[in-house]
Amino acid sequence: MSDTSIPALRAEALESLLIEKGLLSEAEIDQTLEFYNERVGPMNGARMVARAWVDEDFRRRMLADGTAAVDEFKFVGGEVQKLVVVENTPEVHNMVVCTLCSCYPWAVLGLPPKWYKDPAYRSRSVREPRAVLAEFGVELDPDKEVRVWDSSAEVRYMVLPERPAGTEHLDERALAEIVSRDAMIGVAVCESSAVRQGL
Ligand code: FE
Repeated sequence: MSDTSIPALRAEALESLLIEKGLLSEAEIDQTLEFYNERVGPMNGARMVARAWVDEDFRRRMLADGTAAVDEFKFVGGEVQKLVVVENTPEVHNMVVCTLCSCYPWAVLGLPPKWYKDPAYRSRSVREPRAVLAEFGVELDPDKEVRVWDSSAEVRYMVLPERPAGTEHLDERALAEIVSRDAMIGVAVCESSAVRQGL
């Protein structure tokens, strides 16, 4: 989606209006964007995934109550919202979408990528998730079940990816480095050789 899209123009118009009315300053907007980009970001989610991979009790708690699991980490400024964590297994692959708009777990993944808000991703993920996944480079075994989770303002989802083989020697901190944002949305898998790309 280009910057001249309707939602982008509407956001720009709204931003201008809020500034004009003195309700928001440009500096405040920049600060908020920077905060979610650089201080929140997907590293929070990655830390949770890495903990789940090394700590079975935490994994169980996270899957039972994602919101409470977030609280355990005391992330700075994490927006409190209901978080549900869904686990990828050899039998099931999960992916996350917001078909209505762009609901996203900001507290653990930071700002959503542009494509997450794209109408094509929002509709096709439900209709033809395997085709969308293939375009992201994820080729799934035909026997594997794909589950698509529709985020809303009330419930946000995050994927707990499978721990890749060949990572037995890595500690929690190093494991967090191989957990990408896209893997936690469910449009990528974690690779033992990966270096996190950030936003
Ligand atoms: Fe939404």
